[in-house]
Amino acid sequence: MIPIALPLLDATEADAARDAVLSGWVSQGPQVAAFEREFANLVGARHACAVSNCTTALHLALLSLDLAPGDEVITASHSFIASANSIRYCGAVPVFADIDPETYNLDPVSVEAAITDRTRAILVIHQMGMPCDVASLSTLADRHNIVLIEDAACAAGSQIKVNGQWEIIGKPHGAIACFSFHPRKVITTGEGGMLTTSDPDVDRRFRLSRQHAMSVPDTVRHGAQQVIFEDYLFVGYNYRMTDVQAAVGRKQLQRLPELVARRRSIAARYDELLGNIDGLRLPTEPNWAMSNWQSYCVRLPDRLDQKAVMQSLLDQGIATRRGIMCSHREAPYRDQKHQDLRQSELAQDHAILLPIYAQMQDGDVEIVADALKKELCG
Ligand SMILES: *Cc1c(COP(=O)(O)O)cnc(C)c1O
Repeated sequence: MIPIALPLLDATEADAARDAVLSGWVSQGPQVAAFEREFANLVGARHACAVSNCTTALHLALLSLDLAPGDEVITASHSFIASANSIRYCGAVPVFADIDPETYNLDPVSVEAAITDRTRAILVIHQMGMPCDVASLSTLADRHNIVLIEDAACAAGSQIKVNGQWEIIGKPHGAIACFSFHPRKVITTGEGGMLTTSDPDVDRRFRLSRQHAMSVPDTVRHGAQQVIFEDYLFVGYNYRMTDVQAAVGRKQLQRLPELVARRRSIAARYDELLGNIDGLRLPTEPNWAMSNWQSYCVRLPDRLDQKAVMQSLLDQGIATRRGIMCSHREAPYRDQKHQDLRQSELAQDHAILLPIYAQMQDGDVEIVADALKKELCG
C-alpha cells in the first residue's frame, strides 16, 4: 500500500517528547518559547507565536484586524474550509475569488473584481505549499488600503523570490502568516500552529489572546520569588501549544530542509515520468516560487471520471485524494452569493493528489506514475 502522506517521525522526536514529559512542565513553557525562536529564525520573522493549530492561528490573525459585522475578507473557496471559517468566526463575510488553474492559487484579477468598499483584508493561501503571487496581491492590497494575511498552513519551507532574492514564506510577506503542523503538512507536532509578524503590538496581542488575555503568564508566576496576581484584560481563548508538541516541533524544524529537498526531488521525478501524457496537466511552479510540495496535484483530462480513476488506483494499493475542496459548495457557504468560481470547481472535480512524502521510495514513485499512465493511455 502506498499512502497519500506519511509524517517522518522517529526516535529523535519520541526522545524529545519523553524529555519534555519528564521535565515536569508539559503545558506551554520553555519548549514553546524555544520553538518560537527557532521558527522565527528559520523564516526570517521578527516574531513567531505558537498556537494550538492553524485554524486558531487564522482566527487570531483576523481578530487583530478588529473586523466589524458585514466587513468582507476576500479568500479562495478552493481551500480547506478553515480559511473561510476563520473569517466567519470574526463575524465577517468571506468573499470568494477564483483561482489560477496553473498554480491553484488566487487569481489577482478575480481578487480585484471582488473588492468592495467593505473589503478589509485578503486572506491569501499558499495552496499545497505553492507560494501564491504575493507581489501582485500585495500591490493590489496596498492600492486599496487593505491588509494581506497569509494562510501558509501548507507552506513551511516554501520560498519566494523577492527583488531577486529567495525568501522563506513566513517573513511574513503580508502583515501576518499562519502555519499548520498537522500531520498532513510537511512538518508536524500532531496538532499545532504558528503566527509570524513584524509588528510587536500584534505579536503581543496574539500572546495575550492565546491564554485568556492573562496579564502575567503562569510561567512567570511559577518562577517568581514574590506573589503575583494576574489580570484578564479582554475576552481571550485557550489556544496554547503544549511543551510536548513544541519539543517534537523543534526536532521537525531541524529536518525541514532535508524534507523539502526530498519532496522536491520526488516532484521532479513525477514531472519527468508524467510529462508527456496527452491531456494530463502537471502542477506549474512559477520561476519566482519554490514549493515545498506539500501536495503534488495533477489535473485529469475532463473526459475521465475522477472517482473511477481514484478507485482503480486504490484497488492497486495507491492512495490518492481528490482536488482541494471548495467551501462555497458546503452547507455553511452554499447560500452565499459569489462570483463565478469555475476554475475552483474544475480543480476540485478533475484534479487528484498523488502520494508524496519524504520516505517514499523511487520505485514507488514509478509505480504510481505507471498506474496513472495506464488509466490515461489504456
Ligand atoms: C490544513 C489547513 C488549515 C488548517 O490547519 P489546522 O492546523 O488543521 O487547523 C488551514 N488552511 C489550509 C490551507 C490548510 O491546508
